[in-house]
Amino acid sequence: MTKVLCVLYDDPVDGYPRSYARDDIPKLERYPDGQTLPTPSAIDFKPGQLLGSVSGELGLRKFLEDQGHTLVVTSDKDGPNSRFERELPDADVVISQPFWPAYLTEERIKKAKKLKLAITAGIGSDHVDLQAAMERSITVAEVTFCNSISVSEHVVMMILALVRNYIPSYQWVVKGGWNIADCVERSYDFEGMNVGTVAAGRIGLAVLRRLKPFDVKLHYMDRHRLPEKVEKELGLTYHPNVESMVKVCDVVTINCPLHPETEHMFNDELLSKMKRGSYIVNTARGKICDRDAIVRALKSGQIAGYAGDVWFPQPPPQDHPWRTMPHHGMTPHISGTSLSAQARYAAGTREIIEAFLGGKPIRDEYLIVDEGKLAGTGAHSYSAGDATKGSEEAARYEKV
Ligand code: NDP
Repeated sequence: MTKVLCVLYDDPVDGYPRSYARDDIPKLERYPDGQTLPTPSAIDFKPGQLLGSVSGELGLRKFLEDQGHTLVVTSDKDGPNSRFERELPDADVVISQPFWPAYLTEERIKKAKKLKLAITAGIGSDHVDLQAAMERSITVAEVTFCNSISVSEHVVMMILALVRNYIPSYQWVVKGGWNIADCVERSYDFEGMNVGTVAAGRIGLAVLRRLKPFDVKLHYMDRHRLPEKVEKELGLTYHPNVESMVKVCDVVTINCPLHPETEHMFNDELLSKMKRGSYIVNTARGKICDRDAIVRALKSGQIAGYAGDVWFPQPPPQDHPWRTMPHHGMTPHISGTSLSAQARYAAGTREIIEAFLGGKPIRDEYLIVDEGKLAGTGAHSYSAGDATKGSEEAARYEKV
């Protein structure tokens, strides 16, 4: 029988919801590129429920226990005495979400003697030491496309929030003020600006498509070029490297995975090449930016604003400087875990487990590592290596 160890974020502080703000979520037929939505044999939850927190259990308990398997669900994931680390030695499958990642470092993989499959309930498997997973022939799979559109919507929101100075203006209202000059001294129109995305994969391309109606000038850089038809349709300027793109952009959005090639891509040197007063929106991974270089660039005015929902490590300790740096629009990691997205990645996680338990192949597009090498989406979008170093710091976080 299989032991599935699942790490999820905590329930709301007031307890697991008994009712919801809305009664349903839209039913989608397909993803924009034609890929089918998850196809598990069944689901044991109502789409729109909170599934990503401990009591939601990704809707997996009944399905697994009916077949005699064991499901352990915990949010206690950091440090050597965490429940995650105690349960790891005899776990066959680990499930974790990027929002509250159970870092599978080389050291932990060594302890996980029985581990065969690490599932990311979401997208982005950088919390797993992919090099160590390859060496141990552990399969790493994620639910490709499940929340790419969710994130692209968030990116548009954050770009507008920064450029138009939304968050400080909202705060003046809450404080009881009517301080129009204070609100607008950093407020601009987005129209006409140059906007560039680092990577034009599922999220990056969706962001470009959503930004087109704002009459902005669109740029992208990626390792593979988009089809000429798409470049023409959206009026895109392609840049072979990130330096050439950031030099001309007023807004830069980061949408590539974190892997050794992209770790700390936005360091002091690259930031110094950006247009003074540009904005960065990073919903990809915190570690793609050098933490302290971002703070320095905001303080000096080299960049006018930074927003995103991804940090390193997660959760970030209370003294993480991005909590207090000037002109930021940071949230906890939420863009890919709307209730709508949860329904898709819970179903996708079940699809992956069903394939694993039934001895059937996991969809190629879900694979990051398989049979000792990068595979599927992993082979296209990642490079070999490890990006988990420093994740132990997550143990310093204290709940508020
Ligand atoms: P995709 O795999 O569709 O796209 C990733 C793109 O990044 C690919 O086009 C890939 O290029 C490109 N890329 C990889 N390395 C580089 C590089 N060195 N320079 C430039 N481009 C590069 O994934 P998604 O768009 O769906 O997701 C992207 C990332 O966003 C995820 O890996 C994850 O980290 C993050 N994410 C965040 C979420 C959140 O909640 N905040 C939720 C979902 C994802 P190519 O394949 O052409 O080589």
